[in-house]
Amino acid sequence: MDEEFTKINIMQVDNLIDFSKLTNGKLIFDYDLKKTNWFNIGGKTKAFFKPENLEDLISFLKNFGNKEKIFILGVGSNILIKDQGFDGVVIKLGKNFSNISLLPNKTIIAGSATTDKKVAEFACENDIGGLEFLSCIPGSVGGGVRMNSGCFETEFKDILLSVQALDRSGKVLTIPSSSIKFGYRKNDLPRDLIFLSASFKGKFKKKDLVERDIKIFKKKKDNAQPTQVKTGGSTFKNPIKQTNKKVWELIKSSVPKNTTFGGAMISDKHSNFFVNKNKATFDDMKKLIDFVKKNVKEKTGIDLDLEIEIVG
Ligand SMILES: Cc1cc2nc3c(=O)[nH]c(=O)nc-3n(C[C@H](O)[C@H](O)[C@H](O)COP(=O)(O)OP(=O)(O)OC[C@H]3O[C@@H](n4cnc5c(N)ncnc54)[C@H](O)[C@@H]3O)c2cc1C
Repeated sequence: MDEEFTKINIMQVDNLIDFSKLTNGKLIFDYDLKKTNWFNIGGKTKAFFKPENLEDLISFLKNFGNKEKIFILGVGSNILIKDQGFDGVVIKLGKNFSNISLLPNKTIIAGSATTDKKVAEFACENDIGGLEFLSCIPGSVGGGVRMNSGCFETEFKDILLSVQALDRSGKVLTIPSSSIKFGYRKNDLPRDLIFLSASFKGKFKKKDLVERDIKIFKKKKDNAQPTQVKTGGSTFKNPIKQTNKKVWELIKSSVPKNTTFGGAMISDKHSNFFVNKNKATFDDMKKLIDFVKKNVKEKTGIDLDLEIEIVG
C-alpha cells in the first residue's frame, strides 16, 4: 500500500488559484452550498473541491492541509450550514471514491462516498445479512463512520471492521475498528481525518430474507418519519440518561405544535425532525432549535444535545 502512494506525483503550488488550474479535479471558488445539503440552507464556501482521484486529494492536502480550513461533505444529510457560509475549502468526494467490492468471509469494502443504501443493496445481492439497517440511513459511508449512524438497534460500530483514512498531511492510515471508541452518534476518531473507505463484516443470509427485512425496516421508518422534506433527520440526540422518554416525546409535550420561525418548522409526523418548509434561513432554523431547547429545559429540566452538526 505504502509503495503505491510513494508513486503519487505531488504538484507544488502556493495558492488555490494555481492549484485549480493544475488539478484533475474541480475546484470552484465562491460555491453556493445550499444545494449540497438536505436542509437546502447555507451560504457560500470560499472554495469547493471535488478531487478526481486519490492522487488529487493527497496533492491538495500536501499543499493546503495545514493552511486552509477544511470541511468534508458527505451527502449533507446531517448538517446545517450557516447563512454566511464556510470560510475555507469544502471537499466532496465523488464517484471515484464510491467503489464497492466483496472480500472473502462476507466482508464488504466501500468507498466513503458510497451511499449507505447502495451498501445495503450490495450486501443483499451477495446473500449478506447484518447490514439491512443501512437502507434506512440517507447518508454516505464517510458520514456514517463519522457519526456512528444507526437505526433499529444497529450502528456502524456493530458492522465496521476497519477504516482507511487520510490525515491532513496526506498520509494514509488504516484504523481497525477495535481501536476506536464509539458512543451514541460519535467516536474518538480525530476530527481532521478524511475517511477514504470502510470495510464491513456481514454474515450469510439468503437474499430473499435480506430483501424482506429491508422492506420491513423501510416501512417502519416511513410510518414514523417524514419523507421527501427538507430536513436533517433527528435534530437532537437520543437516548437521554435522565428519562426513558424519547426526544420527540419531550419536544411534543414541551413545545406548541405549530411553532415556526420564518420558514423553519417542526415536522407534523416526528417532533425531533425540523423542516425547511418555505425558504428557511440558517437563522430561522437556529431560532427554532434554541426555542425548542429552552422550552424542553424549562418544562423537563433536560438539556438536549444537538445531533445535527452546524457548519460555518
Ligand atoms: C430523513 C433523514 C433520516 C435520517 N435517519 C437517520 C437514522 O435513522 N439514523 C442515523 O444515524 N442518522 C440518520 N440521519 C442523519 C444522517 O443521514 C446520518 O448522520 C448520515 O450518516 C450522515 O451522512 P452524510 O453523508 O449525509 O454526512 P454529512 O451530513 O455530509 O456530514 C456529517 C459529518 O460526517 C463528516 N463526513 C462525511 N463524509 C466524511 C468523510 N469521507 N471523511 C470524514 N468525515 C466525513 C462531515 O464532515 C460531518 O462532520 C437521517 C437524516 C435524514 C435527512
